[in-house]
Amino acid sequence: MRVLEQFSVEGRSALVTGGASGLGLAYVEALVENGARVTLADIDVDAAIREAARLREQGFEVHVQALDVADREQTRLVFEEHVRRFDGLDIVFANAGIDPGAGFWNPGGWRNEDGQVDTLDPARWDRTIAINLTGTFNTLRMAAKYMKPRRHGSIVVTSSNAAVITEPVVGLPYMPAKAGVSHMVRQLALELAAFGIRVNTIAPGGFVTNIGGGWLKDSDVRQSWDAKVPLGQLADPEQIKALALYLASEASSYMTGAQLVIDGGTSLGRVG
Ligand code: NAD
Repeated sequence: MRVLEQFSVEGRSALVTGGASGLGLAYVEALVENGARVTLADIDVDAAIREAARLREQGFEVHVQALDVADREQTRLVFEEHVRRFDGLDIVFANAGIDPGAGFWNPGGWRNEDGQVDTLDPARWDRTIAINLTGTFNTLRMAAKYMKPRRHGSIVVTSSNAAVITEPVVGLPYMPAKAGVSHMVRQLALELAAFGIRVNTIAPGGFVTNIGGGWLKDSDVRQSWDAKVPLGQLADPEQIKALALYLASEASSYMTGAQLVIDGGTSLGRVG
């Protein structure tokens, strides 16, 4: 088999949480453009319907499901519907996640009054953990349930380089949520290997998406973030597609429990 053929996901079925925007939408595009049939599950139903319609117009098979990953029962129903519709489940991207708001430092360059450990609204903690950490667990348990009997599957989890570095402008709850996600993946990779299920993590740095209301799109914020990246700038979601396809497909057949950092070198430290 030629090496590029190993990247094909032709005929596979995939479920992507948070697939209506940003990195999740890039995963959906990478999958359908390479032959997969996809359930795009998202809490933002309007965006999900819009993006799925656009992709269907191009001839791709995309099914929309309304999903809040923090809701365990809804997550169960979305997986059940996927398996019924596509007669199985080969690939899952556990990607849905939120930004809890600015950290102890504001992107504008001053201490953020609402982002200190003693001033942070605990509701922000609860919601971030419920979606980013528990929501990922809710997704992974359903992925395992439906993949185990068939003894194959690839699960790809969007963590963050925040799992391995500290970052003053990112809200406190985000950091342990992502560190928890990354370590959960390693534990599950060990548990599920015997069932032919691979579990890997993508740990992105700054990608310009709609996260946090799209604050990385602001030109001043953008400039100050670009300056922090050794490769010189924040990334476009297009730049994550090849990695997503690599992990989803047989191209990565001997890889499990890996965390692939894609952050332009940010986690290596600052330059200059
Ligand atoms: P985004 O806001 O553009 O997309 C996130 C999608 O998830 C949206 O469509 C949103 O509606 C959906 N979503 C939010 N809460 C949900 C819920 N409870 N249930 C289901 N869907 C939900 O953001 P993004 O940057 O593409 O983020 C995707 C993932 O990437 C997140 O896990 C995020 O933490 C992670 N990440 C992003 C960056 C970055 O710089 N953009 C960096 C590291 C990690």
